[in-house]
Amino acid sequence: MDAVLKSLMQRAKREEEARAASAQELPRPSREEAEAAVRTLIAWAGDDPSREGLLDTPKRVVKAYEELFSGYRIPDESVLDRTFGEIGNFDDMVLVKDITFHSHCEHHMVPFVGKAHVAYFPVERVVGLSKIARVVDLYARRLQTQEHMTSQIITAIDEALKPRGVAVLIEAEHMCMAMRGIQKQGASTITTQFTGIFRDDPQEQIRFLSLVRGVRV
Ligand SMILES: [Zn+2]
Repeated sequence: MDAVLKSLMQRAKREEEARAASAQELPRPSREEAEAAVRTLIAWAGDDPSREGLLDTPKRVVKAYEELFSGYRIPDESVLDRTFGEIGNFDDMVLVKDITFHSHCEHHMVPFVGKAHVAYFPVERVVGLSKIARVVDLYARRLQTQEHMTSQIITAIDEALKPRGVAVLIEAEHMCMAMRGIQKQGASTITTQFTGIFRDDPQEQIRFLSLVRGVRV
């Protein structure tokens, strides 16, 4: 890994730690306060929060938030804490593709949904394959930008496994683009990030992209 990328990743890590620390310092509002906030938003939208159909909505919204944003309650390092050493002579690419996810953009708090494709080249250690999907979920279930989510996934795998390289490709449709603003349905946003062998060896990058696209190589 060259110096530029290394310092970029170190900076990303520092920013990440600062972000986590400031989030922890904030007192969490009570459930009642959160429900009151939902009532305010219903009224702001133009409806009557006290009409029958909306009476229990704040409760349901707050409960849904617990699930949709559960990524804040799980420590980052806990997901990839178990790695396995018995991989024989295997030293080729491990690719988990088509990991579906739902996230919320941090600018509008509306969903963006899509698929993540994650590959790495193990050195001595691997993780359970479902853990890769869990890392995607961990970061998806927070307020996000697609770019930030891409780099968080790559950093988490890089740090936990110290592999020869990691590749992440995320494709997603952003509801804030489809439902509001420019109102373009079906436009997909693709972000990629590569480290190590995926960044340095164009052949491996092509192989990753071809496998993601289902092309035989
Ligand atoms: Zn947005």
